Amino acid sequence: MMQDSIFIFSEEQLNYKFNQEHPFNQIRLKLTLDLLKEINAISTKEIVAPRLATDEELELIHDPNYVIAVKKAGKGELSEEIAESYGLGTEDTPIFSGMHEASALLVGGTLTAVDYVMGGKAKHAVNLGGGLHHGFRGKASGFCIYNDSSVAIKYIQEKYGARVLYIDTDAHHGDGVQWAFYEDPNVCTFSIHETGRYLFPGTGNVNERGQGKGYGYSFNVPVDAFTEDDSWLDAYTTSVREIADFFKPDVILTQNGADAHYLDPLTHLSATMRIYREIPKLAHEIAHQYCDGKWIAVGGGGYDIWRVVPRAWSLIWMEMKKNPNSNGELPKEWIKRWQEEAPVSLPTEWDDPKGMYRPIPRKEEITEKNAQTVANALYPIRNRKRSQ
Ligand SMILES: [Zn+2]
Repeated sequence: MMQDSIFIFSEEQLNYKFNQEHPFNQIRLKLTLDLLKEINAISTKEIVAPRLATDEELELIHDPNYVIAVKKAGKGELSEEIAESYGLGTEDTPIFSGMHEASALLVGGTLTAVDYVMGGKAKHAVNLGGGLHHGFRGKASGFCIYNDSSVAIKYIQEKYGARVLYIDTDAHHGDGVQWAFYEDPNVCTFSIHETGRYLFPGTGNVNERGQGKGYGYSFNVPVDAFTEDDSWLDAYTTSVREIADFFKPDVILTQNGADAHYLDPLTHLSATMRIYREIPKLAHEIAHQYCDGKWIAVGGGGYDIWRVVPRAWSLIWMEMKKNPNSNGELPKEWIKRWQEEAPVSLPTEWDDPKGMYRPIPRKEEITEKNAQTVANALYPIRNRKRSQ
């Protein structure tokens, strides 16, 4: 039977855990699902357990020697020196027991989502455990070991022969996915992120447009630090609409890092919950406009795991289901249950309070600069139209 939407989850997804102090914390998944359950927005039959990605699937993107290294590292059998050459055992991406299995499960979750959507069993699917966009062919980077989105896109190409539009709204540049398909005109990548001037990974310049046959299929909108909702949304909406109209995808894969929020401790943007309402809304619309609804959403960054991520990620599911019950107050039971564990005061409403932060002094200048960046990023599309 065709389901409207499915939510990939199992407790084992929480095994992707570097250490107690590490900012990447998958308890976010539990907080999100618990919030959705508390408001009766999700039923048991909509929750699907992820499968493990096979070695063959991982190797659609990853170097077989890297997969071997990750396996060894997870068993404590990899020397420090070799680990380092694979980006493993660094401060960002420490080695942990069972890291291969935990990482392969996150990839398998995204592949499960793909099979539901591409196999016609669901219109939309979300795997919040995925979104590890910094993983490279032979190297771990920025909290990411295997790149579930890259593997999934390659898997979609090989198994279903479909053209994928990848939309990355994480505050960090979606570098791993971009470079994996940089020369491929059948995959279009779009990343909107905080400029790499002061933020990891430093790439995502507007001039990174693809290479060879893939030239013109990679889009980047690096926005200024302290960018606020209006400017961010204008950049996102304009770009996504024009890119989707240009590329006409068969399926959309969205990476939903929730770290562009003002409260996020690792980045310097000034967005509020408003963008997390609008991001999935437009993705949803575009999916129905071009792809007969085919939309796969994954998670990503998000380091205020208490105040930001559960609300932001719940809104993806609420949008998929067109459930209107995400306004006003958050359920008291949810707040009560998790406040005991949270080191900060949990929010009480779905939306952020007005005046959450002091006015940004350079607002006008930032807005103007971002608009120019968008025009620059979309130049090849607009120029092509003019010359037609
Ligand atoms: Zn991020």
